[in-house]
Amino acid sequence: MRRCGDCSLCCKLLPVPPLQKAAGERCRFHKFHKGCAVYHTARMPPECGLWNCRWLINDDADDLSRPDRSHYVLDLMPDFVTVRDDVTGEALNIQVVQIWVDPQHRDAHRDPALRRWLIRRAEKGIAALIRFNSKEALAVFAPPFDSAGQWREITSGVSTGRTHTFTEIATALGGRASATIEAHGKG
Ligand code: SF4
Ligand code: SF4
Repeated sequence: MRRCGDCSLCCKLLPVPPLQKAAGERCRFHKFHKGCAVYHTARMPPECGLWNCRWLINDDADDLSRPDRSHYVLDLMPDFVTVRDDVTGEALNIQVVQIWVDPQHRDAHRDPALRRWLIRRAEKGIAALIRFNSKEALAVFAPPFDSAGQWREITSGVSTGRTHTFTEIATALGGRASATIEAHGKG
């Protein structure tokens, strides 16, 4: 059974709309070395009470470090990116796992243990969306996606001006998003 312990990285990296807290901004309720000052009170948004990262629930994460040590947070909520075929022009929605990276450690997503984890996701057709804040992102496709067996990173055209809603994600992925959430007993 994993515990957050001294980690509170999600309280900094993730957006919390009810608090008008943007991604990358430390929450006004977070107190250094004390954690959340409103934990399980009426002032804490319900989203926070329901939140777990994938490290905490150990989603195939045995060899990953706790987020405050690895400097990234694996979001349980999937998203999708749209890739357009250069030849046919056909658009394809690809499920991604969202990874919130501490902007002070921008290369944290190159952690070899995370790269191995991403290869295992790619074998299931899931890519990665590295998010540095609310607007800046990097789509990462592990070798199983590439005929040449290379890692592919795409920044141009990857916009995160607005996070997709769960309904949009479920619609775009034809139910695969809800299957992912249910597999972890959330949602
Ligand atoms: S990032 Fe994960 S381990 Fe760290 S405080 Fe949030 S839920 Fe807990
Ligand atoms: S309200 Fe508490 S749990 Fe939610 S982001 Fe702020 S400090 Fe973290």
